Amino acid sequence: MTDDVLDTADKLWRGEIDIASIHPVGGYLGGLAEPCDGVAFVPSFANVTAFSTPEGLVLVDTGSSFVAEAVHGELRRWSERRLHTAVYSHGHIDHVFGVPVWEAESASEGWPAPVVVAHEALPARFDRYIATAGYNEVINQRQFGVPGLRWPTEYRYPDTTYRSQLELDVGGTDFRLHHARGETDDHTWTWVPDHKVVCCGDLFIWASPNAGNPQKVQRYPKEWAAALREMAGLEPELLLPGHGFPVVGTDRVRQALTDTAMLLEDLVDQTVALMNEGARLDEIIHAVLPSPQLMERPYLQPVYDEPEFVVRNIWRLYGGWWEGNPAALKPAPERALAGELAELCGGPGVLADRALSLLVGGDDGAPSDTALRLAGHLAETASLAAPHDPAIGRVRATVFAALAEHATSTMAKGVFNWASRESAQRAESPS
Ligand SMILES: [Zn+2]
Repeated sequence: MTDDVLDTADKLWRGEIDIASIHPVGGYLGGLAEPCDGVAFVPSFANVTAFSTPEGLVLVDTGSSFVAEAVHGELRRWSERRLHTAVYSHGHIDHVFGVPVWEAESASEGWPAPVVVAHEALPARFDRYIATAGYNEVINQRQFGVPGLRWPTEYRYPDTTYRSQLELDVGGTDFRLHHARGETDDHTWTWVPDHKVVCCGDLFIWASPNAGNPQKVQRYPKEWAAALREMAGLEPELLLPGHGFPVVGTDRVRQALTDTAMLLEDLVDQTVALMNEGARLDEIIHAVLPSPQLMERPYLQPVYDEPEFVVRNIWRLYGGWWEGNPAALKPAPERALAGELAELCGGPGVLADRALSLLVGGDDGAPSDTALRLAGHLAETASLAAPHDPAIGRVRATVFAALAEHATSTMAKGVFNWASRESAQRAESPS
């Protein structure tokens, strides 16, 4: 199995396999790699890294509840040692549900209970997840396109937390935990100097950074980039990320970390410069462009999140929620505005027809990016003006299905497909 995982990692780096075909934020992949002696990497949702020491195993990340048993089984074929310590790289639910399986095993074997370590902001995240379980259930179903996906309300909280740095010595191996705000406010990246390994959590995920997620809380791109540069400064030989595959070799690791840092820094700089000039959010999201050279890197493809959404998050971090359009400060109800516009142009059917015609491309067959965006506005306006009209509903379903097809990111596909499904279902069985 070792060769499979590392061989795939190498082919991905060379661009011989398209990252979209092995989506880094996907399901359980199975297998186990031993990229260096005493270190195991289980590609999973999310990845789990294990270090073997004479006192027991140290896990960095533990996976989601769906994969906990499988990951445990995979690691048990690799080592018989007890779990000594588990480090949560952050509190996202795909990283923190593996511990109970190991705890049950320790209890039945009569071993000491494992200790869970995380950053001090992590428990407040679990508290928030419990308080907003309904919201998170809805948006996760939308984001991943899996209706019925349940959101957990019980969590294995950490036993030990730290603020800025923490050194752990387990069986003679040194684990240096560093806090950084980045994808979350509670991230930990772990440097293991004996193996020259960095476990970076979701600060690198083999995709354009998840720094803009439209439905989730604030992300911190500038501090994120600084953390990546700090990691690069240690000259790791191996980068074991929370999603995607290992990056092997000092040069590749440095390149992956600094390229990602450059992408984030550039988005921050461009956005803040326009904010300082007094630009509106609308102008900024259409003016800021990521470096085409960086966007060609196989590990920076916008398959999960995308730079346009990062720009919005930078606006939210440094500015307020108001986007600069005076009419949007205290807007009319959407339905009232849509009804007014539909009436002015001759009815919702006119808007719907134009939306469909915008999907028909030019000479090369493909609609332009702006045409697709406009089609979305017009179909949504028609639907808001005539929410119970099945013909309009079918147009909305068609238009957002087309937008989903042209989108690259999980985030955009999730929202567009949800809208399309909603209208398709309503058109089939109007209430
Ligand atoms: Zn993750």
